[in-house]
Amino acid sequence: MGATSDLPFTCTCGKFRAILHDVGPDEGDRLTCYCSDCRDFVRVIGRAELLDANGGNAVYQTRVAKLEIIEGAELLATLHMTDKPTMRWYSTCCNTPLFNTLPKAKPAFLSVNTSAFDRAKVDDALGPSKGDFLAHEAEPPLENARPVSQFKLALGFIPRLFKDTFFGGWKKSPLFDPETREPLAKPRRVSAEERAAAAGG
Ligand SMILES: [Zn+2]
Ligand SMILES: [Zn+2]
Repeated sequence: MGATSDLPFTCTCGKFRAILHDVGPDEGDRLTCYCSDCRDFVRVIGRAELLDANGGNAVYQTRVAKLEIIEGAELLATLHMTDKPTMRWYSTCCNTPLFNTLPKAKPAFLSVNTSAFDRAKVDDALGPSKGDFLAHEAEPPLENARPVSQFKLALGFIPRLFKDTFFGGWKKSPLFDPETREPLAKPRRVSAEERAAAAGG
């Protein structure tokens, strides 16, 4: 077990404040995701400047129970980019991309979008990125990709998801009501037209 620490973070304007507790390189996977869904989500909420030069989005996949919201839960909103179940969370105060989850409290999955956070603090707490996920979707293409395979990632997130889904960790997610298992913010589905407009702009 490697070193862990707490990582406090805020949205860009500071109205939404939260902490990831006891995180570190061994408590999750820090990656850059080059999938078009991540990229278009950040564009749809008007924050394309947060993406890297190849359209990559910085994320940290970890356990739902590590997240604590200090302030601003009422500012959260969620989107579905496709017909698939992934929910994208952001703060409505300043459109900061924050989390990816599944649509219910169970199965319990949490990916934290770290693109907007203080880079030095993220580096300190989480260590270096483990690589590039879905590197082949980068736009423009990556010259020196460090691909992380879906299989390798699954070795990390499936045990985390299993523990949190079957041993009660899911009840500690601040993003879902533990009684109804519904998300705090009802998702809106982005239309193909809206997505295409954001991607082209
Ligand atoms: Zn804000
Ligand atoms: Zn992605």
